[in-house]
Amino acid sequence: AFATIPQLLRDAVARYGPRDALVFPGSRLSYYDLDRAVDALASGLLAMGLTKGDRLGIWSPNRLEWVLTQFATARIGVILVNINPAYRLSELEYALNKVGCKALVLARSFKTSNYVEMLRALAPELDSSEKGRLRAARLPQLRHVVVMGDAADEKGVWSFGEVSNLGGPAQQLRLPEIDRTLQPDEAINIQFTSGTTGQPKGATLSHYNILNNGRFVTDRIRLTENDRLAIPVPLYHCFGMVMGVLGAVSKGAAMVFPGEAFDPDQTLDALAAESCTALYGVPTMFVAMLQKLDEVPRDLSSLRTGIMAGAPCPVDVMKRVNDRMNMKEVTICYGMTETSPVSFQSFVDDTLRQRCETVGRVHPHLEVKIVDEDGQIVPAGVQGELCTRGYSVMKGYWDDDARTAEAIRDGWMHTGDLAVLDEEGFCSITGRVKDMIIRGGENIYPREIEEFLYGHPDISDVQVFGIPDDRLGEEVCAWVIPRRNSALTPEAVVAHCQGNIAHFKVPRHVRIVEELPMTITGKPQKFVMRDRMVEELG
Ligand code: ATP
Ligand code: MG
Repeated sequence: AFATIPQLLRDAVARYGPRDALVFPGSRLSYYDLDRAVDALASGLLAMGLTKGDRLGIWSPNRLEWVLTQFATARIGVILVNINPAYRLSELEYALNKVGCKALVLARSFKTSNYVEMLRALAPELDSSEKGRLRAARLPQLRHVVVMGDAADEKGVWSFGEVSNLGGPAQQLRLPEIDRTLQPDEAINIQFTSGTTGQPKGATLSHYNILNNGRFVTDRIRLTENDRLAIPVPLYHCFGMVMGVLGAVSKGAAMVFPGEAFDPDQTLDALAAESCTALYGVPTMFVAMLQKLDEVPRDLSSLRTGIMAGAPCPVDVMKRVNDRMNMKEVTICYGMTETSPVSFQSFVDDTLRQRCETVGRVHPHLEVKIVDEDGQIVPAGVQGELCTRGYSVMKGYWDDDARTAEAIRDGWMHTGDLAVLDEEGFCSITGRVKDMIIRGGENIYPREIEEFLYGHPDISDVQVFGIPDDRLGEEVCAWVIPRRNSALTPEAVVAHCQGNIAHFKVPRHVRIVEELPMTITGKPQKFVMRDRMVEELG
């Protein structure tokens, strides 16, 4: 077993040194190459003045520098703070200040955004500051800015290449020394939750949390050093950096990154060209790839397994992924940022139904229970709140003891998700506790009403949520996006419900809308809809 991330990498280098570790468009690194680049960068970060426990933010799409930074920070005990590449200035400012980042590594640009210019707008002081001596009014703790690439001589900013050459013999000598001080349960990574139920929270994770989770995830898909894993999912997210990078390194597998961000054609081409055996994605990515595969066939005969996570997978998509993409052994996962992330996963030989209707069975070394409102364990087949306990539970939310105490009680992570466990241990996720509506003493599960409304031919999308009500405690609301060219009215939606679902579930307030408030990762934010309704109704 490995205890720290540098140990994990060292072990892989010793065993699999000459084999491919990383493939990015235009670059290919063996485990030896990776090790050398990581050491150089780690020494450079030390020379810059970063020390164990400092926070370093990374704001970039999938690039080689991301993975190097991930291992270099771990090498010297600096806490890596993942920043979503889709964040804009206010979110960047919130994240950097929330955890007090001393350094920021960023891509020069991504898609149409020029990150460096955006940062200068937030910190105009960069133009007059010396490298490493930034004092910005809006980012008071930030000292160092490092831009990916080799170009130097930019006011106030280090280049990535420059930092990699900054470390001398003194820093090289300090590396083994620091290594001995690293402890498995020390914080090494802060990941923000998606912000589906409120402001994103910074989950603080240790070496032990994430490296073991990566390892158990890839155990389930039977990954070995002979596998080549394609990772089109984002590195800033645990799917990429934990399940992908740490999972692959724990087995000595090769990691193939098709591009900066997901593109179906680019991914399919990389799968064929690199003879990938495994692939990760969310269901919508698989849908897009299946469509492109119909247009231009590719040889995917080397593919075998992978992970589909993030949202439930429709049966039809699962069947086509099994047959058309040759991924007979694809698995499903359930997890959350706070648990490093995965706690449930299917096995490669679970049936189609088990992989579509459940999220599989619990991971090793974890305890799980489903409890009612009083915290009592419910029998198999009964819905309640899912709680998990074990090695993967985060250290806590950064600088937020109150919320940590609320989420983790007696070692149990209260997931806030509603779930049912069957007799064989398969788990189904049925909604979120926060979204449950209690109207006049009746428990109402929004998902049930949403599924009913999805059956209406004029409804393209719908979200159901509760708002406070003086008389009944809560009332049911629905926001509906109609299909194009339909003349759907709120009255028609209500009429459709009457007589077909219990009277207390019929939405009291229906709004026809053009779009729903979403997180950057595409999850609908019911709390935003609730606030707007409350405001509107006075
Ligand atoms: P926040 O905590 O900020 O409100 P979030 O909970 O959406 O946002 P994440 O940690 O990214 O942030 O997502 C974890 C959540 O995603 C889980 O708690 C669960 O609600 C949902 N989820 C994860 N995997 C699955 C799955 N396989 N099926 C259904 N829901 C899932
Ligand atoms: Mg959450």
